[in-house]
This record gives sequence, C-alpha cells and structure tokens, in this order.
Amino acid sequence: MSAAPDPLTTQAPRSAADLAARFEREFGRRPDGVWQAPGRVNLIGEHTDYNEGFVLPFAIDKTARVAIGVRTDSALRLLSTYGDQGLVRADLGTLDAASAKGWTKYPLGVMWALQQRGVTVPGLDLLLDSNVPLGAGLSSSHAIECAVISALNDLTGAGLEPEEMVLATQRAENDFVGAPTGIMDQSASLRGSKGHAVFLDCRDQSVQLVPFDADQSGLVMLVIDTKVSHSHADGGYASRRASCELGAEVLGVKALRDVRVEDLEEAAGLLDEVTYRRVRHVVTENARVLQTVELLASEGPGSIGALLDASHASMRDDFEISCPELDTAVASSRANGAIGARMTGGGFGGAAIALTPVELEQQVRAAVERAFAEAGYKAPDIFTVTPAAGAMRLS
Ligand code: ADP
Ligand code: MG
Repeated sequence: MSAAPDPLTTQAPRSAADLAARFEREFGRRPDGVWQAPGRVNLIGEHTDYNEGFVLPFAIDKTARVAIGVRTDSALRLLSTYGDQGLVRADLGTLDAASAKGWTKYPLGVMWALQQRGVTVPGLDLLLDSNVPLGAGLSSSHAIECAVISALNDLTGAGLEPEEMVLATQRAENDFVGAPTGIMDQSASLRGSKGHAVFLDCRDQSVQLVPFDADQSGLVMLVIDTKVSHSHADGGYASRRASCELGAEVLGVKALRDVRVEDLEEAAGLLDEVTYRRVRHVVTENARVLQTVELLASEGPGSIGALLDASHASMRDDFEISCPELDTAVASSRANGAIGARMTGGGFGGAAIALTPVELEQQVRAAVERAFAEAGYKAPDIFTVTPAAGAMRLS
C-alpha cells in the first residue's frame, strides 16, 4: 500500500495567469509581474561546500512563483497560497528578524539584505505560490528567496549579477532567517538550466553548466523523502564542520579543498582516526564531483551510478551522517534496478536520490515502499525530478 504523497510533490504549479488573477482577487489590482525560481537537488558533492570544494546540484521542475505589485508607500502585504496563514503585514522602515513571522522571514530577509546593499526597495504586495515540498531537502526556502530577489532585481533596476544575488540571499538566510547555509542552493536556483547540472566551485563561486539530461538517457531521478528529521542534525552538522576545520589546521591547509587524494596516506599518520575519516570523505567526495563532471560530459548520465554509490558509502561509513532509513532507501532502490543511489543533503534524515532506468521506475518505487514497511518505518514520499531552468520572469 502506498502512502498518500505530500500534495506538493504531484501538484502542477499554478500558471502565471492564474496567479495574477488570484493576486487581483486578493489585492484588488493587477500585479506588475510574476517571477519563478526552482528548488534544487544535489547530484553529488556533500559537505564539500564549507570546505571550499565542489558541488554539483541541479535546479528541479518544482518552483516557487511570486506575483508582485509595487506600492507607493512603504507597506508590505504578503500572502502564500500554502496553508492557512492569512495576510501578513510589515513595513520597510521596520524590517527586523525578531519580528518577522513564519514563512515571511524569507521574502522579508531578501528585502532586508538588499537594503543592506544600498538598494532602495519599494513597498509591495506579494502573493507566493510554490510546489516545492517544504523541508524535504529540496530547498523550498531558497526557491522563495530566489524568486523574490529576481523580482526585486528587475523591479528596482538594481542590475545585480547572479553572483551578487547569490550572496544577498546567503546574507538573508544567515543574518535574517538565522540559518547557517552556504551558496549551493541559491546558485542552483538562480543559475540552473534545463537539462544541466550546475558545477559550482565554492571557493571562487565560478559556475559551469554540465549536460545532465536524464530523460534523454532513458533515466529518471527518483527522490525518496524518508520523512525523517533527526533531532541531532544541528549538533551533527556543527561537529562535522569542527572536524573539517581541525583536519585542515593539522594538515596546514587553508581548507580541505587543498588536500588531494594522494595526500591521504600521509594524512592518516597525522590525524586521529575519526578526524581522518571525516577528512577522507571530503577529499574523496571532491574527487568524485570532478569525476562526475567528466563522465557526464564524455559518456552521459548512464555512467555515473558507481560514483553515486561511492558517495553514499563515504557518507555512511566515513562521515557518518546517514541513518537506517536513508540506507534502506539506497540499498532497496539499488537492489531493484536503480543504477546508482545516495543520500542527498546534510544528512541524519531527509531524502535519498536514485537514478533509475525509466522502465524500472515502478519496480523501484514498490521495492522501496515494501522495504520501509517491512522495517516498520514511516512510509516515504517518492517522486521524480528533472533538471530544469533557473529563476526567470514569467510575465
Ligand atoms: P527546505 O528549504 O529544505 O525546504 P527550510 O526549513 O529551509 O526547508 O524551509 C522551509 C520553510 O520555508 C517552511 O517552514 C516555510 O516557512 C517556508 N516555505 C516554503 N514553501 C512555502 C510556501 N509555499 N508557503 C509558505 N511558506 C513556505
Ligand atoms: Mg532551506
């Protein structure tokens, strides 16, 4: 028996025209425009971002959309089609993190970060509609932020480059929302492209689009949301970061990005056993990202399965951030036809991805659901994503 999926995982986005009509009903006038920005999945490169390494996310076909109408005063009125939260009012003159409520901290954080950069943000009415599932590791929060910053960049004529928008949304998340996130999610959302993954160097923010057209290769990317959110995720994240910093210090490098696979043997003699395994994950994961980029360019998506598997093993055994549900999702999808699978995201819960031949999709889904039921786990949410376009204006 399959679980009822989160409605957002199957819901098509409202069209720009529908959203504009809804805006008109709510606010009594037409919006100035509609913008969208997608969520993302990280194909490979986990816990490498804060080590100044490489990541390879892709923008997905699930997006946040915002209809916005500029006002002549400094008032802000914000409404989401999701849930039952009602209209939220704020004012540009008094934007502060402490008084921002619920989901509005994401759009308000972006406005605040733009103000900090000296951009004059106008008062506005904003209607949000998103089909990026919340808290499933697909970055529904950055989808909102990237849609809003794209809109404000256009509406204010601020002329920000994508790199600057990336940093402004990071500032919003770090200093307004209070989430210690990096630059991966918004880089994928702002700079993604249909049929491509975004190869991002977290040291200098340079980006290269890499062909990743799973559909064309007869593959689908399944996301298996385990619905597990472990209470020790925050502590686990902090302790992994601390181990990486210690490793870099002992090895005398600026960041673990500067350690090569060939250096690992020597590092083993310098580090305690646990720190060594943490370092080995980061160093080998960076190498796997580079190999994945090469293989995607030369042979295509059908060739990267073993790298996804190796990434999962490294997170499970060396970095120790997996959990039984994620391991079950990976093992059962692999045993039943997926060509490669790994947990994706920060770990201790969240989602796994399984690259699967299209004709085996139903078989893999059924096998994973069965394995979860047999283990007594809560039913997972399973859905497909495809590499899609980055943020854009729709109307
Ligand atoms: P993730 O970004 O991985 O999905 P976060 O905890 O960072 O998880 O962001 C989830 C939060 O984003 C939600 O708690 C909610 O505040 C906000 N959010 C996401 N989508 C919507 C939406 N459609 N309407 C209102 N709030 C949303
Ligand atoms: Mg988030």
